[in-house]
Amino acid sequence: MRVDEAFTFIKNAHAKNRLTSGLLIIGDVRGDAALLSTKILQLLFCTDMVKPCGSCTACQQVENKTAFDVTWIVPEKRSRQISISQIRERLIPAIMQTSLQGGWKSGVIIAADRMHQAAANCFLKTLEEPPQQTIFLLLSDSPQNLLPTIISRCQRIDVSNASTHSQVWWHNELLEMLADPGPAGPVSAMGLAARISALLAEVKKEAQKSVMAEYSEDEEAAINVSTDELDARIEARFRESRQTVLNTMQCWYRDLLAFTVGADSKTIHYPQYTELMQARAQNLTLAQALANIDAVDGIKRQLECNMSEPYVLSYWLDRVSNGLP
Ligand SMILES: [Zn+2]
Repeated sequence: MRVDEAFTFIKNAHAKNRLTSGLLIIGDVRGDAALLSTKILQLLFCTDMVKPCGSCTACQQVENKTAFDVTWIVPEKRSRQISISQIRERLIPAIMQTSLQGGWKSGVIIAADRMHQAAANCFLKTLEEPPQQTIFLLLSDSPQNLLPTIISRCQRIDVSNASTHSQVWWHNELLEMLADPGPAGPVSAMGLAARISALLAEVKKEAQKSVMAEYSEDEEAAINVSTDELDARIEARFRESRQTVLNTMQCWYRDLLAFTVGADSKTIHYPQYTELMQARAQNLTLAQALANIDAVDGIKRQLECNMSEPYVLSYWLDRVSNGLP
């Protein structure tokens, strides 16, 4: 689901007074999932007539994470985990207090899958019987690591395939590569694979920079971290970003599929390519358009198994039909 679609859905539920007290937002916890959580909180706290306005004091406090009635919980720097004391001593007392502004109260758990077993069990009790006008937003890119009992208490909103990755530098570059893949055939697939590999190499450098920057803010952690741990964190950060790159590719081929079956153009991800997609879709069969989606699935699967990136990319991209005349 796209972020704006997800938000419209929440807004409607809110208008009908049917907002559930636990929302599990699946997606990039620094990207789309965070964006959606900010919009939801602004909707609840905004003091303007048309909510959320994004500019009133309340909206800004949400944006700056200084809102009185919202408690944000992030994994501790050293352990990268959410501890039981964060839940028991910070989150729960804040939620149990009456709202300072007489309205909603909220707890936002960023990377909720990093809750320790004990922390998760402690949180579960509050999630099961939340005080009035309370909403918990759980953000996670790995919901499979959450306790099933927590998942079952929350409404799931999946923005992990959202197309609003446009804020990342590589977004338009990647779309241009997909729009101009070169003629069909293995040589061209290798060329496209090489271009995407080069982009991924840049994405990896960026992951390295962002992890190193976090350690430079925290001297104590920097002294104690081992090279192995550092490498593992960079690799994990890179994999997150690589997943976003692959999701963008998948959205591209989904659009192509949508045009192939003549679906409503309102549901497409990249309307700026409508004309190009329409022309290419005419040269594609349904089976080919579906095989393209399978190809990206194949890339995702094999890269997860640590197979060689250029090989995996050129193998699958050679199986993609772009509908070029
Ligand atoms: Zn506002």
